[in-house]
Amino acid sequence: MIKAIMFDLDNTLIDFVRMKKLSCEAAIDAMIDNGLKISKKKALKIMFDLYNKYGWEYQRIFQLFMKKVIKKIDYRIMCSGIVAYRKIKEGLLYPYPNVSSTLDRLKKKGYKLVILTDAPRIQAWIRLAAMGIQNKFDYVITFDDTRKKKIDEKPFLFALKKLKLKPEEVIMVGDSIKRDLKIPKKLGITTVLAKYGQLEKEKGKVDYEINDISELLKIVKKL
Ligand SMILES: [Mg+2]
Repeated sequence: MIKAIMFDLDNTLIDFVRMKKLSCEAAIDAMIDNGLKISKKKALKIMFDLYNKYGWEYQRIFQLFMKKVIKKIDYRIMCSGIVAYRKIKEGLLYPYPNVSSTLDRLKKKGYKLVILTDAPRIQAWIRLAAMGIQNKFDYVITFDDTRKKKIDEKPFLFALKKLKLKPEEVIMVGDSIKRDLKIPKKLGITTVLAKYGQLEKEKGKVDYEINDISELLKIVKKL
């Protein structure tokens, strides 16, 4: 019997890539307005290549971007970009459709709800608060709790211990097979792929696939 549902955060509850893309576009527009000589298209590609290489949480992307484009850091241009990025980002952190209502309905049915994210603790809580869903979870487990990402067993074992539950009593929902679901599947946790947030085609088996978070309500009914 399922007693708890664990959620990845970025691209599972938050439309993170959309936020990132629009924020980067605003940053690049601002840097070009302030004298950076590059086409917007090329700049976007460089920035996303850097994020792919160093990770979405990397905090020095703008410095690397400047060095790559003009071989030095021009603070006037760079900070124009950072400010534009932050302004857009703050306003754009919102959940996918039906996230809030689905969480409420699951909670009402008595399921424990958990965030299990590779993001640092402060970033995770800022994102939850920005979306107004910071009060809906029994536990928010982040990278800071185990210093391991979900490609490792540790975060899952830590979560099971906190919940005092067995793997077969828990569901994990995530947008990446490799980064969210491969390990829990191996541990005997029921895995649900959030197809709407998936960035790339991946190989590997999961127990369920959903195109909208509300489909979880049907899945828990069956289990
Ligand atoms: Mg994710």
